[in-house]
Amino acid sequence: MDRTSRVAVLGAGVMGAWTALHLARRGHAVTLVDAYGPGNSLASSGGETRVTRSAHGRDEHYPRWQRRALAEWQLLEQHTGIHLFEPTGVIWFARSKTGFEADAADVLERLSIPVERLSPDDVAARHPGVATDDLAWALHEPEAGALMARRGVATVAGEVRRMGGEVRIGLAKAPADTSASLTGLRLADGSSLEADAFVFACGPWLPKLVPSVELSVTRQEVLFFAVPPGDRRFDAGAMPTWIDYGEAYYGMPSIEGRGLKCAPDTPGPLVDPDQQERVVSTSVVETARRFLTRRFPALAAQPLAEGRVCQYETTADEHFIIDRHPAHENAWVVGGGSGHGFKHGPVVGEYVAALVVGDDEARANLAPPDDRLGLRPRNPGHGLRTSAGTPAPPGGAPTSGG
Ligand SMILES: Cc1cc2nc3c(=O)[nH]c(=O)nc-3n(C[C@H](O)[C@H](O)[C@H](O)COP(=O)(O)OP(=O)(O)OC[C@H]3O[C@@H](n4cnc5c(N)ncnc54)[C@H](O)[C@@H]3O)c2cc1C
Repeated sequence: MDRTSRVAVLGAGVMGAWTALHLARRGHAVTLVDAYGPGNSLASSGGETRVTRSAHGRDEHYPRWQRRALAEWQLLEQHTGIHLFEPTGVIWFARSKTGFEADAADVLERLSIPVERLSPDDVAARHPGVATDDLAWALHEPEAGALMARRGVATVAGEVRRMGGEVRIGLAKAPADTSASLTGLRLADGSSLEADAFVFACGPWLPKLVPSVELSVTRQEVLFFAVPPGDRRFDAGAMPTWIDYGEAYYGMPSIEGRGLKCAPDTPGPLVDPDQQERVVSTSVVETARRFLTRRFPALAAQPLAEGRVCQYETTADEHFIIDRHPAHENAWVVGGGSGHGFKHGPVVGEYVAALVVGDDEARANLAPPDDRLGLRPRNPGHGLRTSAGTPAPPGGAPTSGG
């Protein structure tokens, strides 16, 4: 593809927006189209915050991508002056000396990514709001933290505009054209969108545009509990972003006064992202409160300050999908974030841009060591972690890996 080629990116979530920005940086005329707008509340990239952490069990590829992506988020923050990363550190509460956290610590040390192994007493001394009686140890990633989610996506889309790209609202229809090279798409308002290449980055909506994509789209609830007035123990700076292995909960300190984030990482019921009601369930709040009693006792009786409902779009093996469209040689399919895709947005976008323009050197530099991202039937139960990294608890449904 030459530098004057036009590229249409469908979907302005974290993956589409970063893809559009990397293509715009390469000099392409980019149109970024989204049904609801960049950083909207229905998208999987909506909401306030996302965990960015390197630990990924024995896997070495995702830690490398995460570090590269985090550097990009931080560069964007410096460049725009918009707060996008809260350097809280990430702590993993571990009940066993072996397993995911121990494997991850070994990998991070091998990759020279800073990591600390803390005793329960260390944790209690550093973070007095945490109950540690059931812990064997904790893994601390001092350079990890929390990304500001919808603000981040909106900032990336703003950069696309600044680079001369077009960002517009529109609902793309599935391609009607069956020819090998796609020349255009229809939008729901009757207009057409012509380009030399297309990227479908529609998150949980992807199967509606590319039916061969298989995703489990599940309801996920995110809760923010008010911290006691004047109590600083749960604020960013005092409390890190946290992941509780055995309990399948993760969360964050109170960032920008929102309260302690506490979210179950088990897959909820299957939903349609256009239709699901986004009112949090009393049962999810009650179960979370029981967890708080065990891990953050001072918050167990605190009121819920805020709740959000989102969805995971999970592949059977929880690896993302980044591949050529099955029917069109000039179209690409990107998604399947599987509850851990946000942090990687900058590198996903960089990688997709390299594929779209045929930059083999950049592609080879970023590609995983295996075919994990291919659009093909996946083996279920790979056991990768989801949003924050916690595994499904005993009995948890395997749809998102929990
Ligand atoms: C509750 C929750 C917690 C999570 N926690 C973490 C975390 O801590 N760390 C982490 O790294 N990841 C996390 N994730 C996962 C991460 O947020 C997602 O993997 C990622 O945001 C998906 O981005 P996306 O761009 O693929 O999809 P989306 O953000 O859903 O974007 C897709 C976009 O496509 C648009 N669209 C859909 N159909 C069309 C169409 N026909 N035409 C035009 N536009 C269309 C939509 O409006 C939407 O904006 C979490 C996800 C959830 C839901």
